[in-house]
Amino acid sequence: MNKHAFATRAIHAGQEPDPRTGAVNVPIYLTSTYQLQGIEQHRGWEYSRVSNPTRDALEASLASLEGGVSGHVFGSGMAAIAALVTLLHAGDHVICGDNVYGGTMRLFTQVIVRHGIEFSFVDTSETENVRRAIRPNTKLVHIETPTNPLMILTDIRAVGEICHQHGIPMSVDNTFMSPYFQRPIEFGADVVMHSTTKFLNGHSDGLGGVLVTTRPDLAENFRFVQKCTGGILSPFESWLILRGVKTLAVRMKQHDENGRQVAAYLAKHPKVSRVFYPGLPTHPQHELAKRQTSGFGSMISFESGSRANADKILRSVRVITNSESLGGVESLISHSATTTHAAVPPEERERLGITDGLVRISVGIEDIGDILEDLDQALRSI
Ligand SMILES: *Cc1c(COP(=O)(O)O)cnc(C)c1O
Repeated sequence: MNKHAFATRAIHAGQEPDPRTGAVNVPIYLTSTYQLQGIEQHRGWEYSRVSNPTRDALEASLASLEGGVSGHVFGSGMAAIAALVTLLHAGDHVICGDNVYGGTMRLFTQVIVRHGIEFSFVDTSETENVRRAIRPNTKLVHIETPTNPLMILTDIRAVGEICHQHGIPMSVDNTFMSPYFQRPIEFGADVVMHSTTKFLNGHSDGLGGVLVTTRPDLAENFRFVQKCTGGILSPFESWLILRGVKTLAVRMKQHDENGRQVAAYLAKHPKVSRVFYPGLPTHPQHELAKRQTSGFGSMISFESGSRANADKILRSVRVITNSESLGGVESLISHSATTTHAAVPPEERERLGITDGLVRISVGIEDIGDILEDLDQALRSI
């Protein structure tokens, strides 16, 4: 299957027709345990915390789409990141982007530090900051590109080269782009992480997370962590994501098309002072975006001027929904400072540029005319 193109793999990789019945779709194996044929004689499955055929299919599918040797799914994106950092030992040091997902920041600074692991948070969009932060005990570099909500990019290949010179694994949170537009492994990542809750599932109806790796030793570790800590994804949610991923290619094309139009509309709007979208030629890293992604997606942030303006816009939308999260077929709009970044202290938000007037949109795949009309009437309220 791996020789086939992306859209074909999205539908078929890991999903052969069921050998027993011929069912075209992978069944949801709602079973905790499996019959053994004798002592230590099993058909490949013994207990569902360790493995389950529905989950196996999803893991094979996602590994194929990201180009890794294996995928490992967890109950949420955060559970996947937590599994990643269990590879570390007390005394190890991690370099992490300073503008990563709020939950990642919270996990690292409020939970993982208690286990004797040190963190340096640096602006990874300046590649040299990564090199400067390396210490003899650095054991992981974790980046997110583009970042939420300011859509700042990190040059994956450049950071990957630094990591490889020092023998440090690099993980990339690829949630915003999906493997349809960005495949970090092709640029040197050792681990790709997703909140499958977002574009991969695509229908805002289930949580999930995945780690895909190119390294058999890390794969072995991730499999072991799944078994030891048990934060795995249920068969039902595995199936939901399998179903979602089948349409990933067509959904992403439409997200991208709608995203470009919304960004162009906002960029011309007199009441919008700034638009953050890598697809705009005015984005300072537009050239990098063209180099490492094959589309720009549909995550857009813009400056409305004040918290009061943002509030009016969020109250006025009718087609678009005022809600956190992203990556579903429906358009969502949210206020970053009080939702995804509420846990970030105000001074730090200010330093990062996450103002009280900043509004983020996850542009869905509704009719573009309806989306633009909705934004138009919402912006008239300010
Ligand atoms: C949502 C998100 C996460 C966390 O995933 P959950 O599925 O909500 O646990 C991590 N990283 C990014 C970029 C996200 O958008």
